[in-house]
Amino acid sequence: MKRLSWDQYFMAQSHLLATRSTCTRLVVGATIVRDKRIIAGGYNGSISGGTHCVDDGCYVKDGHCVRTIHAEMNAILQCAKFGEPTDHSEIYVTHYPCLQCCKAIIQAGIQTVYYANDYKNDAYAAELYQMAGVQVKKVPLEKGISLPGQVDNTSKQLDYISELLAKIEANGASGKEICDLQQQAERLFVPDN
Ligand SMILES: [Zn+2]
Ligand SMILES: [Zn+2]
Repeated sequence: MKRLSWDQYFMAQSHLLATRSTCTRLVVGATIVRDKRIIAGGYNGSISGGTHCVDDGCYVKDGHCVRTIHAEMNAILQCAKFGEPTDHSEIYVTHYPCLQCCKAIIQAGIQTVYYANDYKNDAYAAELYQMAGVQVKKVPLEKGISLPGQVDNTSKQLDYISELLAKIEANGASGKEICDLQQQAERLFVPDN
């Protein structure tokens, strides 16, 4: 098994948090890290105890859902709530933070922003990061890291192919042909780590 790099590990954590988002318009996760330790995490969601968009639909004003607090904000606020310093920390986010989150990130003293996916990247945000000396790095989540929600169909696919091959064999294909097809299918569906 390949050992996960720190960047991939923290980015995977953010993707895992994103699966907890309660607004389907924005499925985002954020992890704040200091000295290679996770100090807080957040996802896009309503205030604690509030109505969830996934249950009652979004509350849209001017084209935006106003019910939720962004993942980055939630992670920073978790630090505020529990008294964890964010100065000189780093944040791993599934998507490029919006302008409001960008300002909060800078003001919280976070020094590096790692993001996996471009998302309406704001030019003014980029300018602010540069002005504040905050590093911004794109770290896409590597393929092959499977998370809950990403259903692994490999065994089902192989079962289905075996079934198909058995039928083809019954219709007169040779054992050699079937064996070759089976091997091809396994090469397609089983990742070689
Ligand atoms: Zn919503
Ligand atoms: Zn935001």
